[in-house]
Amino acid sequence: MKILVINTGSSSIKYELFDADHRRIMAGGLVEKIGEERGFHTHRKTMPNGETVKRVEKRLIADHREGLNRVVGLLVHPEHGVIADKIEVSAVGHRVVHGGEAFNSTVIIDEEVMAAIKENIPLAPLHNPTNLVGIEVARSVFPDAPQVAVFDTAFHQTIPMRAFLYAIPFELYENDRVRRYGFHGTSHAYVAERAAEYLARPLGELNMITIHLGNGASMAAIKNGKSVDTTMGMTPLAGLVMGTRCGDVDPAVPFFLANHLDMSLKDIDNLLNKDSGLKGICGTNDMREVIEKKEAGEERAEIALDMYTYRIKKFIGAYFAVLGSLDCVIFTAGIGENAPYIRELSCRGLNKLGIEIDLERNNKTGNGIREISSPGSEVKVLVIPTNEELKIARETKEAIEAHGI
Ligand code: ADP
Repeated sequence: MKILVINTGSSSIKYELFDADHRRIMAGGLVEKIGEERGFHTHRKTMPNGETVKRVEKRLIADHREGLNRVVGLLVHPEHGVIADKIEVSAVGHRVVHGGEAFNSTVIIDEEVMAAIKENIPLAPLHNPTNLVGIEVARSVFPDAPQVAVFDTAFHQTIPMRAFLYAIPFELYENDRVRRYGFHGTSHAYVAERAAEYLARPLGELNMITIHLGNGASMAAIKNGKSVDTTMGMTPLAGLVMGTRCGDVDPAVPFFLANHLDMSLKDIDNLLNKDSGLKGICGTNDMREVIEKKEAGEERAEIALDMYTYRIKKFIGAYFAVLGSLDCVIFTAGIGENAPYIRELSCRGLNKLGIEIDLERNNKTGNGIREISSPGSEVKVLVIPTNEELKIARETKEAIEAHGI
């Protein structure tokens, strides 16, 4: 069974083709700058020995339909391709950002599902419309393959009301669905499952804190394998300090910006989403650069790192209290997987909670799952590379098998 996973952005399509029977990636890539003067298509073909061969094409790619047709063109290409005909694609799995309260699991896409994703556009005005474009285009390019939606929000639908409600008039929840939803669900769920495999224990028995630190960043408290709280909210702006997003601030800050600095709603939206976080404090959102700047003695970079890791530590403490007992802490995504300094600072001084990092293990680089806690640490601290595409492929396979397709 071959499954194509698609992540559609406003001007991009990220894709991976999986051989789901043999659990391996056959090809993948990224179509970027769709609709701009010069589009970019990077395609990778995985060879039988695991090595990848890259091909880059630069040319105008008018719209997403043309983008996906180009992807198909390379997938079936005699030299760069990996299949003989697009009919070999058994199903297409789509990452959909906001499922609202309508979806707590992966679903096969039909007209009702399309309508529900549309209904959730007000909750994710930037993402859901482009995800819908991706689905429409994939349906026309692969008319015979079932299309499946995997939602960023679905994993967090188990969060109880006390943790998802905001203390604002209840009608705003009832009528307008204003509440915490949480995101990065595919990643939190994936690393939690991998941790259970690694620890050789049933997922349903494990209490964990998963820490996804990429450009966006979020944490989840997972009790008996289910999400019970998460740091992002109704939108991905809440919670941790991120690359360019502010995370938690006093909700009255925007009023101050509007009243005293005469900023418009749009300016404030831009400021909090695009010019805040690490970038707002020290001028760059790339963690590698922040660490370099700190090592070069730049004070603002040191402050940024201090804030970044303090916020993580604070939520570890909060989620420990929420969970009551803790089996493991998991770091994942670009920063979580690659920045030992961030892991060390975030866990420093948590010995009383049973969280103890082994500095030597933490500083070792590696590719797979790594245990970085000291042998005596009550709580295991793990680094687990996330793989949202693989998780989407697995969910897609399970969904179509469950429906006997
Ligand atoms: P996205 O959310 O866009 O998928 P990633 O998960 O790829 O992001 O994470 C991007 C972040 O990871 C960037 O801030 C980048 O600087 C950081 N990063 C990647 N490699 C390293 C590294 N070796 N050391 C520190 N940070 C790193």
